[in-house]
Amino acid sequence: MRRPDPSVETTGQDERAACPYCGSTETRREHPKGPSLCRSMHYCDACEQPFEAFG
Ligand SMILES: [Zn+2]
Repeated sequence: MRRPDPSVETTGQDERAACPYCGSTETRREHPKGPSLCRSMHYCDACEQPFEAFG
């Protein structure tokens, strides 16, 4: 079931981290590919930059 409002898509955590480069929240979460599972990778669709977010 998809909801049109992305702000509702919270599963207990804020997966939409703001981009540290442009401040956009048009980001998506990437799957971690390294041993550091405590941090999450995000990808900004606005400026097309990957960034890390803790938590
Ligand atoms: Zn950005």
